[in-house]
Amino acid sequence: MASLSLRHVTKAYPNGFVAVKDFNLEIADKEFIIFVGPSGCGKSTTLRMIAGLEDISSGELYIDGKLVNDVEPKDRDIAMVFQNYALYPHMTVYDNMAFGLKLRKTPKDQIDKLVQEAARILDLSHLLDRKPKALSGGQRQRVAMGRAIVRNPKVFLMDEPLSNLDAKLRGQMRIEISKLHQRLQATIIYVTHDQTEAMTLGTRIVVMKDGVVQQVDSPQNLYDKPCNKFVAGFIGAPQMNLIDAVVGKAGSDVTLTFDNHTITVPAEKGKVLDQKGYVGKTVTLGIRPEDLHDDEAFLASSPKSVIEATIRVYELLGAEVYLYFDINDANCTARVKPNTTARPGDVIKLALDLEKIHVFDKETEQVIV
Ligand code: ATP
Repeated sequence: MASLSLRHVTKAYPNGFVAVKDFNLEIADKEFIIFVGPSGCGKSTTLRMIAGLEDISSGELYIDGKLVNDVEPKDRDIAMVFQNYALYPHMTVYDNMAFGLKLRKTPKDQIDKLVQEAARILDLSHLLDRKPKALSGGQRQRVAMGRAIVRNPKVFLMDEPLSNLDAKLRGQMRIEISKLHQRLQATIIYVTHDQTEAMTLGTRIVVMKDGVVQQVDSPQNLYDKPCNKFVAGFIGAPQMNLIDAVVGKAGSDVTLTFDNHTITVPAEKGKVLDQKGYVGKTVTLGIRPEDLHDDEAFLASSPKSVIEATIRVYELLGAEVYLYFDINDANCTARVKPNTTARPGDVIKLALDLEKIHVFDKETEQVIV
């Protein structure tokens, strides 16, 4: 398989629009890399530059140490699986999978071996004689994967391959792709705007916004240590609560005040805010919904972080409950246990897990602590 290196890769389209700006990334052999970000952030453009379907305006792309900026797509040893998997409708599953190999003049017996093996991996062996119209969405998607697998490429590129499937199938295919990665030991670069796919599939995730890489990290680190307010809000569902708060001081304690509430910042974090001159300034407080607690034990153990909230909406999801409320202008969510007694209209107490708070600079939106 293969390693990739993107150095200062930039894409300016002919109309002058710069879709990708100074993209830098080292991808190791066998990594499962996810490009994630809102619509239009440049994910597909980056993928298409790697595939050779778009020119690189400036910067360099290396595959296994070889500069490939000017190498034709067909010579890059890359297979791409698209959102519109576009199978040939008049061909059987077998022929759809064999087509690329036939074009390459691969010997017939070898084609047969490769197709049968891919079909076995993807559980398509019993469907090889069918035409695409006689397949379910998930089966068609697996054929599209099969077409890529038979070529045994160095790198797989996948552009939102599951977005045409319904939620249940998407969940199943996610698991299939994960297994496939383990099995093929392949380098995979996968574009999605679905952060569940990103979190569950990726060994590392690249979060993009407006053509600029925001953070490259493991799923857990992105979740626990977002580098800025955008990443904090983008990764995680329901999203992190982001609340304007004023930094204050009470004796040696550093506090955050918002909407008639004052909470005490843990000493280590407080020290950083103080030393960096944030006392008296407005910052953005970030707290994940699961780090707000309404149970008596937590409320009693964390008196310096208790706030009151008027519940707007109560949403039972079976194993958990989302409680929606407002703080200042921010829509907030608490993710609590289903035994909560809180209902719409109730004013309840919630305690923040202070060790889990994030504080962002209001202007630069970069994380402070
Ligand atoms: P989505 O999730 O919606 O597919 P994306 O992150 O993959 O979005 P890209 O398709 O890479 O985004 O597009 C990035 C930006 O470049 C968008 O603003 C898009 O409008 C613009 N763009 C794409 N192709 C061209 C083109 N040929 N000429 C000019 N601008 C383009």
